[in-house]
Amino acid sequence: MIGIFGGTFDPIHIGHLRLATEVAEALGLDRVQLVPAAIPPHRGEPLLDADTRLELVAESIADDPRLVLDDREHRRAGPSYTSDTLAEFAAEFPGEPLVLLMGMDAFNGLPDWHEVDRILESAHIAVATRPGARAQGTAREWLEARRATAEDLPGAAPGRIVPVEITRLDISATGLRALVDQGRSLRYLVPEPVVRHFTCG
Ligand code: ATP
Repeated sequence: MIGIFGGTFDPIHIGHLRLATEVAEALGLDRVQLVPAAIPPHRGEPLLDADTRLELVAESIADDPRLVLDDREHRRAGPSYTSDTLAEFAAEFPGEPLVLLMGMDAFNGLPDWHEVDRILESAHIAVATRPGARAQGTAREWLEARRATAEDLPGAAPGRIVPVEITRLDISATGLRALVDQGRSLRYLVPEPVVRHFTCG
């Protein structure tokens, strides 16, 4: 099974890296592809440009064989839709179950994502706990109807949803950007390359 973890990563932080690592361990994923969104469709313009966000992800996971950078959304024109990304993965790895990783806040927004039916037809979803976020509304109904365990996934048709308890780290890229704005340190909240980027400019 291949994990696919998309995000804006503006910038990448320890919350992202622990999510990818702990979900991979919980579900027995061979690897997790980190897919930075070049043009995130569900939010405003990022602080860091697309190349810098991609480069900081690359440097942050360089020593970790389980986490792999995937730059396909940077090579594609137009908004970075997850439905297109999953369709490309499915074509590249036929027969290999795909698992889309996300935190609970992102999962709550999933029902409004572009072509969400296509997403659920191509991949399972692993939803990681995140401080301050609980399943709500339609996302919560989907979780109840499609809930599965790690053991169910390999043999199941796509579209099952597995909640995963991870270490609760109250870190967000929004909070980090506020620290940058105030000239404060990001050290120990983000990987070293991100610290260096903001200290050395
Ligand atoms: P922002 O504050 O700019 O919205 P973010 O910190 O939420 O950024 P994103 O790049 O938007 O980071 O998130 C990518 C994915 O990582 C999403 O699925 C999000 O839910 C998840 N995620 C980010 N931070 C955490 C965290 N601390 N704990 C659990 N999940 C997280």
